[in-house]
Amino acid sequence: KKKIKSAKKKLRVDFTKLDATLLPTVIIVGRPNVGKSALFNRLIRRREALVYNTPEDHVTRDIREGIAKLGDLRFRVLDSAGLETEATSGSILSRTTEMTGNVLARSQFAIFLIDVRDGLQPLDLEVGKWLRKHAHGIHTIVAMNKSESLDERGLLTAEAGHAYTLGFGDPIAISAETGFGMAELYETLRPLLEDYILQLPNDKHDQDDICLETKDNEHCKSPLQLAIVGRPNVGKSTLLNALLQEQRVMVGPEAGLTRDSIRAQFEFEERTVYLVDTAGWLQRSGKEKGPASLSIMQSRKSLMRAHVISLVLDAEEIAKTKTSMKHAEVVIARQAVDEGRALVVIVNKMDLLRGKHNSMLHEKIINAVPQEIQTLIPQVTGIPVVFVSALEGKGRVTVMRQVVDAYEKWCLRLPTARLNRWLRKVMSRHSWRDQATQPKIKYFTQVKARPPTFVAFLTGKMQLSDTDIRFLIKSLKEDFDLGGIPIRITQRSVP
Ligand code: GDP
Ligand code: GDP
Repeated sequence: KKKIKSAKKKLRVDFTKLDATLLPTVIIVGRPNVGKSALFNRLIRRREALVYNTPEDHVTRDIREGIAKLGDLRFRVLDSAGLETEATSGSILSRTTEMTGNVLARSQFAIFLIDVRDGLQPLDLEVGKWLRKHAHGIHTIVAMNKSESLDERGLLTAEAGHAYTLGFGDPIAISAETGFGMAELYETLRPLLEDYILQLPNDKHDQDDICLETKDNEHCKSPLQLAIVGRPNVGKSTLLNALLQEQRVMVGPEAGLTRDSIRAQFEFEERTVYLVDTAGWLQRSGKEKGPASLSIMQSRKSLMRAHVISLVLDAEEIAKTKTSMKHAEVVIARQAVDEGRALVVIVNKMDLLRGKHNSMLHEKIINAVPQEIQTLIPQVTGIPVVFVSALEGKGRVTVMRQVVDAYEKWCLRLPTARLNRWLRKVMSRHSWRDQATQPKIKYFTQVKARPPTFVAFLTGKMQLSDTDIRFLIKSLKEDFDLGGIPIRITQRSVP
């Protein structure tokens, strides 16, 4: 204590404005290089940090302390300098451990940071063991740092599974560097720190403040990544050309012509659109196994780089076979929505169904296809279907308006206050199994966009059933016009 006092004096930190001792304390722990300091710096931003250290060991064993600001949350944050195992260093270790142990004793909460790009390392397991031994009564949150790029690649789920085995509950994905996941960190900490929430005078309770991903507000303005997929000969290249409004892609009747990468860019209504290379998808024919399947693997990867996936179907083929989607098409559509992409279905070659004797067919297809798609892909309701003729060059605007619309919904962020007003209303609409077993949602919040992801914080023992979650998803879609967008809801218990 004396040490801290003298250190405070020496650094002349002005603590008069905010009495740090009244704030809850959160310590950041983790093996070296996982990004503890980076997270610490993000949390305290430009405010001053107090540094104190053991006299014997000035250089590396610092513990920094600062006041963190995360939305309307204020807490004291400690940056431990890295716990090390006996194996890595002998005597420094015991001192560090002892010191961190002391600091730990003054903390109510711990953020256990791991590096998601490295995956779980033996050292992480050691830290976990150490925490379990020393951190009794300290609520520990596991945060997978450096998640910024993995989010796009959809690899986080697997890593979250590993991190869960640490035994500290569901991990959250963050990036100390870009600010990705700070909203989720806020939502995780908020119920824990609720008693400590300090509303400072002149302190705007600013929701935007917690959406800290650097480019967050730019989200929907950032280039839209579009993938056009479909079986051979449905008219993907023709459609591409219509979108690009110039002949950049070779068009021909032979299957597999577009296998080579297409990376193009165009503007639509002041928006930049990137066409993601997905050639090869559904192009497999029995004969070519080697290189073709390789290109399918590659395209699958690139497919997941897209924000919006447009699946092109052939109207003439639908009329002939009387089925909207062939097996391969169903597979890819399901995969797209399971990966959290926005899906737009395009029924091409509608010109072939024009003319007197075809007008019935034309109408039938327009009515039947969306319905059939709904039954084939029950995971997402309201998938948009557009009917075009790429050959006639029509449909550029129709297709792009739908794609942009899907993208904007996919990026949507709903403020917590609005969501909770909404929640109160819908909860009364839902027929619960019975009053006694009805779960209590303390509040509901969107932790992520692209795709919209929500967390329900529950008090009490009851969990939301699958039916409850389906009901919430359906209501969100109806009330916020999110048709066709994959929506995710998870639940978390709070004391
Ligand atoms: P500490 O030893 O745990 O305090 O780790 P540092 O904060 O010093 O970070 C270690 C390295 O990881 C540095 O090179 C950081 O720039 C980098 N780093 C920290 N956070 C992130 C992140 O969110 N994403 C990425 N890509 N790198 C990060
Ligand atoms: P891809 O293999 O999916 O890239 O298909 P292509 O764009 O190469 O088109 C295959 C064939 O269908 C070509 O002969 C195109 O001219 C034709 N095609 C493409 N779109 C349309 C359309 O809207 N109407 C008609 N009638 N033919 C089309």
